[in-house]
Amino acid sequence: MENLSGKTALVTGASRGIGAAIARHFAELGTKVVLLARDGKALSDLAADIGSLGGQALAMPGDVRRYADLEHAVAAAVQRFGRLDILVNNAGVIEPIARLADSEPEAWGRIADINLKGVYHGLRAAIPQMLHTGSGVVVNISSGAATSALEGWSHYCSTKAAVLSLTACAAKEYGAHGIRVVGLSPGTVATEMQAVIRKSGINPVSRLDPAVHIPPEWVARAVAFLCSEQGEEFAGTDFSLKDNAGRARVGLPLIV
Ligand code: NAP
Repeated sequence: MENLSGKTALVTGASRGIGAAIARHFAELGTKVVLLARDGKALSDLAADIGSLGGQALAMPGDVRRYADLEHAVAAAVQRFGRLDILVNNAGVIEPIARLADSEPEAWGRIADINLKGVYHGLRAAIPQMLHTGSGVVVNISSGAATSALEGWSHYCSTKAAVLSLTACAAKEYGAHGIRVVGLSPGTVATEMQAVIRKSGINPVSRLDPAVHIPPEWVARAVAFLCSEQGEEFAGTDFSLKDNAGRARVGLPLIV
């Protein structure tokens, strides 16, 4: 389905979970990957793993809160692989989970810096390079929390809602310039983030049966789909894996 061979992708939050699965899947499809997250050891282990399977990966330890780190990662992609075709703004956090009156202002702001400003930093760093080549795809990992209110998640819901708007704004500004910007709302996924949510016990998501979470590899397949020609029609939207319509388009197992 996807013809992503020979392309270069930058994936943020690639040290584990959904980001690592996206990087691995891209590598399987012949896409060169630049991996960004704070845990440099996890990134170099993943890059080595991808290399041992015949793929090409570059580990770029960094923090999405720092714009310069995104700029360096984009420059490194161009220097090492000659181009940047895809950006996946995946890095995101939910801890600490707390109702508003119990929240720590500094911690609340840190989530905004990662979940919202981190996505802005990725767009700001990658778009000039994509304009230079006249094409590119940006996938912002979204969430059902962007459109529903959940107790204890004011930081997460509001930053994901803002990312939804950022996706639409970027798509409007650059769609005519050959740059596709799209959101991907995966539903619940079996990663460390869901373990943190479960431990909090604060709202209905924390009480979900873990068996309902989808594997991160399914999200990776959806990202590849959105980066392929078939993904074109979803520019500016928030593509969802929570329903069978989205899953069917990607070729994932359906909810029965
Ligand atoms: P995860 O397993 O906790 O992984 C989060 C990733 O983000 C890690 O690689 C982490 O790496 C990275 N990260 C965190 N802060 C960062 C920072 N300041 N700079 C750079 N990287 C940073 O979570 P996940 O479930 O894979 O989540 C990935 C994305 O999917 C998030 O945007 C999340 O909101 C979204 N999502 C998840 C679910 C779910 O059910 N799991 C559902 C909907 C949406 P380091 O710690 O090494 O920096």
